[in-house]
Amino acid sequence: MKKNTDGVVTNNQDLVLSIQVADCIPIFLVDPVEKVFGIIHAGWRGVVGGIIQQGIYSTIQIGSDPKNLNVLLGPSIRQCCFEVGQDVARQFDSSYITRGINGRSMVDLQSIVIYQLEKLGVKNKKIVDLKECTCCQEKRYHSFRRDGKDAGRMIAILGWQ
Ligand SMILES: [Zn+2]
Repeated sequence: MKKNTDGVVTNNQDLVLSIQVADCIPIFLVDPVEKVFGIIHAGWRGVVGGIIQQGIYSTIQIGSDPKNLNVLLGPSIRQCCFEVGQDVARQFDSSYITRGINGRSMVDLQSIVIYQLEKLGVKNKKIVDLKECTCCQEKRYHSFRRDGKDAGRMIAILGWQ
């Protein structure tokens, strides 16, 4: 996997992984069998660009079997608030889009991610979606969409104990 903020995967239990997010989906991967773990930072561009596939392939490369992966989707902007223009909407299957006010497109990025994970061999019962929206549950989370460029960030951390 590229050495940038899109994600990091390792089997080194001495490491603690962390990424920053505000609306993008922090995706935690843990394989308790091979002790492989990682965090992916998934925004819509990343999802379109194959970040989920890259992340899972990275775990396979260091010995993990996708069927053993536990996956958690953390707080992120959800369909209730994730309004996009037509240029973005047309990159996704229409079944993941509902019409908002004034005909705007509301994207269900979490369901797209879960579909991709299952296609890669991750078991549905091992995928947990927290279903917390960063944008409309504002007392709890920072949101780039809501607060603009001055938005705070949240830090996702994953390590082994
Ligand atoms: Zn919302």
